[in-house]
Order: sequence, then C-alpha cells, then structure tokens
Amino acid sequence: MPANASAFLDPAQAIEHLKSYERSDGLSVADLMDSRVHGGLTYNDFLLLPGKIDFAAQEVVTESRITRNVTLKTPFMSSPMDTVTESEMAIAMALLGGIGVIHHNQPAAAQAAMVRAVKRHENGFITDPVVLSPTNTVEDVLDVKERLGFAGIPITDDGRLGGKLVGIVTNRDIQFRAPTTPLSEVMTTELVTAPEGITLQEANDILRDSKKGKLPIVNKDGRLVSLLARSDLLKNKTYPLASKRPESKQLYAAAAIGTRPADRERLALLVEAGLDIVVLDSSQGNSIYQIEMIRWIKQTYPKLEVIAGNVVTREQAASLIAAGADGLRVGMGSGSICITQEVMAVGRPQATAVYAVAEFASKFGVPVIADGGIGNVGHIVKALALGAGAVMMGGLLAGTTEAPGEYFWHEGKRVKAYRGMGSLEAMEQGKPVPPSAQRGGKGPGSSQPPAKNTTHENAATSRYFSESSAVKVAQGVSGDVQDKGSVHAFIPYLYVGLQHSFQDIGVRNVKELQESVRAGKTRFELRTASAQIEGGVHGLNSYTKRLFASA
Ligand code: IMP
Repeated sequence: MPANASAFLDPAQAIEHLKSYERSDGLSVADLMDSRVHGGLTYNDFLLLPGKIDFAAQEVVTESRITRNVTLKTPFMSSPMDTVTESEMAIAMALLGGIGVIHHNQPAAAQAAMVRAVKRHENGFITDPVVLSPTNTVEDVLDVKERLGFAGIPITDDGRLGGKLVGIVTNRDIQFRAPTTPLSEVMTTELVTAPEGITLQEANDILRDSKKGKLPIVNKDGRLVSLLARSDLLKNKTYPLASKRPESKQLYAAAAIGTRPADRERLALLVEAGLDIVVLDSSQGNSIYQIEMIRWIKQTYPKLEVIAGNVVTREQAASLIAAGADGLRVGMGSGSICITQEVMAVGRPQATAVYAVAEFASKFGVPVIADGGIGNVGHIVKALALGAGAVMMGGLLAGTTEAPGEYFWHEGKRVKAYRGMGSLEAMEQGKPVPPSAQRGGKGPGSSQPPAKNTTHENAATSRYFSESSAVKVAQGVSGDVQDKGSVHAFIPYLYVGLQHSFQDIGVRNVKELQESVRAGKTRFELRTASAQIEGGVHGLNSYTKRLFASA
C-alpha cells in the first residue's frame, strides 16, 4: 500500500487520462506494415488489440464487397482448383453466403455445365429451365434426370422456353413407360400455372397450395417464361445468407479462365451458361496478356465482373485497375501447396501484400481478395482488417465433403487429395494420386480417389506460364488434407467465429472494421517468435483440438 493514497490519480478520470498519451496503445496499421522497419509480415506475425464490447456477437454483419458490383453476405470464397471447386462446392458456398470459383483445368463444355448447374440450382424463378417438346421421348427425360438430377420438365409446342406450354412431365408420368414412348402420350395436360409478373411470394403460395412439384410461369399468350420448383421453397428459407443476383434470385456463379486466345472461346460458353464473375487465373497477373484480356472482356461482356490477378504490389495492381479490373486477387507464394517463393524467388509475405494492394485499390473502389495462406478464423479477420473484401481458401476447404474427389486413408487419417495447380500432377492433367496409393496403401479401408478422366483438349491451364514448355517447372506440390466434414457445417463455423472476433475488436461490420483500422483506432501488436509460441497451445502433455460443435 502506498503511504499516500492521494499520489494516485482519480479512477473516475481514467478514460479522460488516456488523452495525455501522445499515441494510443499498440501500433497503427501504417506503423505495423512499414516493411522498412519490420520486413514483410504474414498473418501470424501480428495480432489485433481488443476494443470495447457493447453489442452481441449475433449482431455482427459480415457483408462485404468482392468486386465493384457484387456484395456477399459472408466474405468466403473457394479457390479455382481441381481439388477444391466444382459445382457441388460452388453451390454450397453460394448457399452459405460466399462464392466458389469453378476451376478451368477441364474442358470448356464441362466447366460451362458446372456454371449452369450453379445457376439452375435454385432459387425463386428458374429463368432457363430445361424444356422438352411433345415429340421427345421418355428416354430424353431419363437422360435429363441422370445429368441434372430432376425429372419435372415443362413441355412446350416447340420444345423451347418461349414456346406455348402444352404439358408437364414428372417422375410419376414416366414410371413403367417404355423409353421410346413420346411425351405427348404421358405428359400431364391439366396444368396449374401462374402469370408472368407474379411475385416470388405469391408464386410460392400457389406452389404450396397446388401440391405440385413445379409451377410454370406463362405470359398472356400462354407461352412459358420461367418455372418455380417446390424443392426451392425450402432452400429459400434455409439459406438466408445465400449469394443471389437481386433480380433473378439465382445463385451467383464464378469461374476461372486463363489469358490465352482459346480462353475467349471458353468464356463465351461460360457466359452463355450464366456466368456472373470471371476470375483471370494467373500467378503473376501483371502481364500484357491479362491486360489485353481484361480490356477485351470489358468491351465484349460489359456486365461481367472481372477479378484480375494475382498481384502483391501497388504497381501490379495499378496496371490491372487501369485496364478495368472490378476486383483483384492478392497473393503470390502464400498458398499452402505453393513453392513459388522457393523456386521463383518472387512473391511477398501475405499480410504485407494484402495491405499494400488493398490500401491502393480502395482509392479506386476496387475490392481485393486475400488469396492463399488462410489456415484459421483469425487469418480471415486479419485479412479483412488489412483491407480485403474477402478471403479465398484452397487447403482449408479441400478436405470437405463438397470438394471434388473421394476420401481415402493415409497413415490412419481420413483425407482427400489436394494439389497445387502448378504442381506437375495438375499441369500434366493426371488424376490426383494419394501418397498412400503411391506407397501401396495404408490404413482402414485403404482406397484411392476414383479414377476421374481429367484429360481435355485444353490440357494446360496458363496460370504458371510453364504448362506447355518442354521442361515444366513446378510451382506447387501434391498431397492430401484431413477430412473436415461438410462445408454446410464448416462455413457457419467460420461465420460465427468471425462474428465473435469482431465483437472482441469492438466493430459491428466489415466497413466499420476497415474504417477503424484506417483511422488508427483499431490497433495492432507485432508478435515475437516467443509471443507466437505463447499464443498457441503450450505446456500440455497432450490435448485434443476440437474447433466447433454444431447444434
Ligand atoms: P491455400 O488456401 O493456402 O491452400 O492456397 C490456395 C491458393 O494457392 C489458390 O487460391 C491459388 O492462388 C494458389 N495456388 C494454387 N495452386 C498453386 C500452386 O501450384 N502454386 C502456387 N500457388 C498455388
């Protein structure tokens, strides 16, 4: 106890007293990110300091812009990699408020079919339904069922959208019928329809009361304009964060392409399939090929959002912004499967790269996507704090049910193959081969991913400028990642984790976070090597790390 208690300041003045300090506690983002002082930083090199909590975590809104004109409710994107994003992942990501970018290491037609599957998936009015004519056969319906998974198909006189609606076929109509039977003999002609211009709510009510599976929407001449599906009623309710185009209520679809002449034809197919966002997939985006490609796309498809990249410097970003990019993908060498920095001697630590590019791009209203190196919720928060509009994840999602490929066992763990798109395996278009299979297999029920025919006419993607050379120089590795369960449980974990982190920081949304960081209000601290050890689990004999539990 001090001899004289009055030597202390009045506790009631504690907050007021803060003003007597020249600087707030901790570092501003500009001081933290001064690479002349600290070098380039990764996400693990720093922490945010806590703010003040005066709201519940559930109130936090994670809405964020990923391109000039597309805002998502959750800032999560999945990488365009052949072990991460095909249609199943893209649909799940979009339903959960993020977006999946469909990879291009496959024939253009196959990629377009995946885009179409995303656009068709739900929601509200299906504006390009599959339509058949009365002269089509039961076999044609079975074919649609096998390819797309449904059999409720409207029949118009000419077999096209816009034709006169004459019937509908459902599963039940074709049961026990010979494959060659014309649909005119089996289709239902007593139809419940709704008029063009009806609201989604009204149409949903009709669908519910009619007990039918599909509700055709027709114009005043009885011509088919769209369709509403009963199976979508439920989805509309279950996914309040879903990433949908405001007008059509269809899920947003994104896909990657390269920058070679053949990619223009590829893009034409993707656009026809309903593509909303194209990602120009290159490890070093500041090239004349990409600049020309951006200009051409902006002229040819002015409504298509273009995410350019990858970049890690202001100068690279400036070229692509000037060419017309609507968003930038940031990261070179930070990916978990990546050996670019090792082999090419170029790249940049990811936190520094995100900050440098986001700080510059924000002046032009161009959002940036922090791509690669995301290993946990904390990394996502840090990327957003440094100015990113979203994060892109490969390794973190490759072990989920929705990622392409089957699970197999490797050293006693249930895993899925995950490989860099610059790995020799991906460049050569071989199917992912698990290490366990290479070494003869191990573990319960040892199996390898099923053979998947990935060869195609456009075998090499152009991401690494090396795919068609005589000597291929790898920039990625091929391996496996542990089972993570379904994206439908994992993304909600990331989302709720983000809400709690924002609460600790004392910000209610992404905009507030970024403004608070920019204004020097949200502060940072560098972590020494021992601080990083202290911040992890330490000193235990053994422990279990369970990350979340879903209700
Ligand atoms: P991850 O989330 O850390 O696994 O990183 C995924 C990101 O790594 C992707 O979105 C790409 O930007 C990048 N990437 C994908 N394949 C390769 C590769 O073979 N070499 C380097 N980077 C890659």
